[in-house]
Amino acid sequence: MLRVLDSDVLSGFIGAAGKFFNGGKEVVEFEGLWAKTYGFKNAVSVNSLTTGLQVAVGAVGIEPGDEVICSPYSMSASATAVLFYGGIPIFADLDLHRFTLDPRSIERCITPRTKAILVVHLFGYPADMDPIMEIAAKHGLRVIEDAAQAPGIYYKSRPVGTIGDVGGFSLNFHKHIHTGEGGLLVTNNDDIALRCRLIRNHGENATEAYGVEDLSNMIGSNYRFTELQAAIGIEQFKKLNGFLSHRADLGRYLDRRLLGIPGLGIQHIESGSTHSYYMYPVRFNEEIVGIPRSLFLRAVAAELPKPRFWDTTPFAEGYVRPLYLNPLYQKKIAIGKKGFPFNFNCGVTYDYPKGLCPVTERLYEKELLLSPLVREGMSIEDIKDFADAIEKVIERIHELKKWSDSAGTETMYDAVKAINENVL
Ligand SMILES: *Cc1c(COP(=O)(O)O)cnc(C)c1O
Repeated sequence: MLRVLDSDVLSGFIGAAGKFFNGGKEVVEFEGLWAKTYGFKNAVSVNSLTTGLQVAVGAVGIEPGDEVICSPYSMSASATAVLFYGGIPIFADLDLHRFTLDPRSIERCITPRTKAILVVHLFGYPADMDPIMEIAAKHGLRVIEDAAQAPGIYYKSRPVGTIGDVGGFSLNFHKHIHTGEGGLLVTNNDDIALRCRLIRNHGENATEAYGVEDLSNMIGSNYRFTELQAAIGIEQFKKLNGFLSHRADLGRYLDRRLLGIPGLGIQHIESGSTHSYYMYPVRFNEEIVGIPRSLFLRAVAAELPKPRFWDTTPFAEGYVRPLYLNPLYQKKIAIGKKGFPFNFNCGVTYDYPKGLCPVTERLYEKELLLSPLVREGMSIEDIKDFADAIEKVIERIHELKKWSDSAGTETMYDAVKAINENVL
């Protein structure tokens, strides 16, 4: 950062074709470092992955009325990115073991209007890309990978991000490595890379210079990464592998400890694939364990030091409400007040009723527990305490069964809020 401050150039971009169209020295170095390490042909930094996903949607050519198959269980931006170009998010259901899009459900969602699939590698475990890419090839669909939670992760020995047409990583404060805010798109397709760079930086000024004939979606914006962020990113990137291997050690330890506990399901990691452990997911079976999920997580928390921040909460439940239950989809008001883009295709009605994705709703309401403890700053001893607490609660579950007052189904964020309020 001092190097950048001394250079006097805090951002190297100029919004016109030429030497500075793709950013300054640090930005170019940061993108190159990431691309070279994983063998990505192109990397394009952006000021967040929320904007990055919008860029990707624009760059693959989504138009008003195009349907894009999305995951209902993710950060909201994984679906709203589609709406910014007038595309319509169609929510497919999840695979109960991976927590990512179920290829069979994707197939059921395909219509003549489907143009792309936006896959999320949720919690850091890759979606099942082989069958997804087969479906995409069969129907001529583009594939965008939201790898916000899965930097440096492999699916069957291939790095995520460029298995589909374009993918992206987030560099916000909560992710494995961060630059305050920020994101990085990666693609092996040079045409998509150019279109990403144009959307990132006032593309309308530069299409002629770069010989771009298809002007659709080339209205640019300013999604540029600063030199300061890139300089931080370069140093952060050097730590990524160490963070990933530490998290994997903690995750594997927890796997061994939880493997034999009835009613707690752990994720099976297939050969050749890796897990970033953005979160450690556990599938909770209330019938087998014998008490509701919310009571179980409180009991485990009561055995451990009081959380100071959300990421020292032993367990959170449910993750996020299925995205289609948000008012945006329920009322179908996104851009303007007249129902665009949901009313764009004459004669086609889009509805997002409760029950649309039963597996997702089941995870949200009853089955999913997440631990953010598998992270930097936590040691094997800390995770041992966590596993001991879980075992103790399971051993004395009959005492808890007496409790009948389940506290309902708060989302992770409600729980986080409550905890943070307590702390402050
Ligand atoms: C964090 C995140 C994003 C958005 O990234 P930002 O850089 O915060 O805009 C998108 N998708 C998923 C799955 C995320 O976890």
